[in-house]
Amino acid sequence: MQNDSANRSSDPKPPTGSEPAGGSGGFHFDLQATDGRARAGLLQTPHGEVPTPVFMPVGTQATVKAVSPRDLHDLGATVILANTYHLYLRPGDERIARLGGLHKFMGWDGPILTDSGGYQVFSLAQRRKIDAGGVTFRSHIDGSEHRFTPEKVISIQENLGADFITCLDECAPPLDYDYNVQALARTHAWAERCKAAKTRPDQALFGIVQGGIFHDLREQSACFLTDLGFSGYAIGGLSVGETKEQMHGVLELLDDLLPADRPRYLMGVGTPEDLVECVARGVDMFDCVLPTRLARNSGALTRTGRLNLRNAKFADDPGPIESGCTCYTCTHFSRAYLRHLTRANEILGHHLLTLHNLHLMLTIARELREAIMEGRFQVYRRQMNNEQ
Ligand SMILES: [Zn+2]
Repeated sequence: MQNDSANRSSDPKPPTGSEPAGGSGGFHFDLQATDGRARAGLLQTPHGEVPTPVFMPVGTQATVKAVSPRDLHDLGATVILANTYHLYLRPGDERIARLGGLHKFMGWDGPILTDSGGYQVFSLAQRRKIDAGGVTFRSHIDGSEHRFTPEKVISIQENLGADFITCLDECAPPLDYDYNVQALARTHAWAERCKAAKTRPDQALFGIVQGGIFHDLREQSACFLTDLGFSGYAIGGLSVGETKEQMHGVLELLDDLLPADRPRYLMGVGTPEDLVECVARGVDMFDCVLPTRLARNSGALTRTGRLNLRNAKFADDPGPIESGCTCYTCTHFSRAYLRHLTRANEILGHHLLTLHNLHLMLTIARELREAIMEGRFQVYRRQMNNEQ
């Protein structure tokens, strides 16, 4: 562990591999500072720069629910996520390609990351059958049969045209060793095929490290994917039923194994406390539906915990969601008004709570970055942990 001292100038981890960091095609990753295991970097993409650590709002259906791309720019979002599985089924990746690609289709000109669809196939789709070549499943929308192979998910993601794309992987139950051994073999074979199938030079392909909570499998996965060589490494299969200690143990192991000069993306993890504690263990990129999903269920994230705005105790509360918050919602509206909107089921309530929740996550990511750049990450981490 090197968490005790700021060492950004004296002890950067050496770059690995001979390729330029992040590959070619307009991509580059600069590791700018480290503080213990925490990292600050700059990702360059064909659609602009992404300072890291970064939180990526989730736009499942080519929309971050309840906010516009203009709002996202105003909030300071630099990269958003979209879901391959959902967009393939509806409205269809070929249609999006005909309409000029995902950036144009959804009116977002910044960087986009698409997942491979694997997670949704394993969590949403019906009657799925996995074999060595891929996975056959029925749509959760209309029951129609489809098949994802490594080549197919790369083709879909090339049609969508996101800046960051990901390999097809199998997310196994995190505590089942035998299942993870088999799933990992498939995930690795699929990663090789995804890399071979990729044709567009203006997209950066991320490999996905799997292996549940098992350190030997995680090590095997990190080494296999690093040998293949990807522009970045996603960490899948965490925050799906294991303990925080188990998740943190895997992240510390991977911090030692993954190349320092490639971005690391922890998939689907992103509460305020997770951001701090996973940045402390070497993660650069996060996505999570929590801020947007919670907002549509009357929930507000704050630095000291969550609020349910439906609660009667807010009925006469003239204060903002969180005092000191500079977001549009907190500078213009009271808890009492937001409670009224949520109880009346007004659309504006969803919008305003989403703005606040995203503002908080994006602000924490920026604060983490500043703290790392200035060598005071551990002080910031202690402050955040004391507030919670
Ligand atoms: Zn706010």
